[in-house]
Amino acid sequence: MSDQIMPPITVIGSNDEHYDPFPLFRPFPNMGPPPPGQFSHDSYCTVHQSLAPDIIPKDLSLEFLRDTAIHIANKIIHTPGSQNHEIGTFIIKMANGSLRTSELVKGELHNVNFASGPLNAGEVIVAMIHSHTPIAGVETGIPSSSGNHAGGGPGDTVVARNLLNSSAVDPGMLNYIVDIASGNTYEYTAAGPDVRPLGANITKDTVPGRCPR
Ligand SMILES: [Zn+2]
Repeated sequence: MSDQIMPPITVIGSNDEHYDPFPLFRPFPNMGPPPPGQFSHDSYCTVHQSLAPDIIPKDLSLEFLRDTAIHIANKIIHTPGSQNHEIGTFIIKMANGSLRTSELVKGELHNVNFASGPLNAGEVIVAMIHSHTPIAGVETGIPSSSGNHAGGGPGDTVVARNLLNSSAVDPGMLNYIVDIASGNTYEYTAAGPDVRPLGANITKDTVPGRCPR
């Protein structure tokens, strides 16, 4: 153990993307925006049923992280302009085990750049989360990759994987996509290939659980 303060590290998550129709995407009926209040359930009284990803952040409850991701997703969904601006942030585990976000950044129609900002001693980035705005006929719950977007950037999967090179990022970092069209949030590992199938839907996978006192 060292009392030395960890120097601030800034991690930039750039998601420069512009979707093209792509065979990988499974067309889905556009359900329109979720009505306000639809996601107001108390997530701490439910349990997520999706299988755990192959790799997850260490020393952190996946249930707690998923609840936190849904909480942030609800905030993103109900942010004015979320229909036509991507919104994103990092989820950071603090030294005491609690979670916080970095600044919640509102980007553009198909692009958002967000940064963790300086990290305090003992803090580590455990997840990133950003929204995708609706595109008719496109499964926007899937992270972008070089093969399915026409923007200048590498896409979500490459950006997330490259962040694993930072000592400020947990090797099990997860990458959450908030699909504004459906209101669902999907879970992906940062580690892994460029192209992914649709991930676990952590918005619709809960069953009643025990509420904390
Ligand atoms: Zn994206």
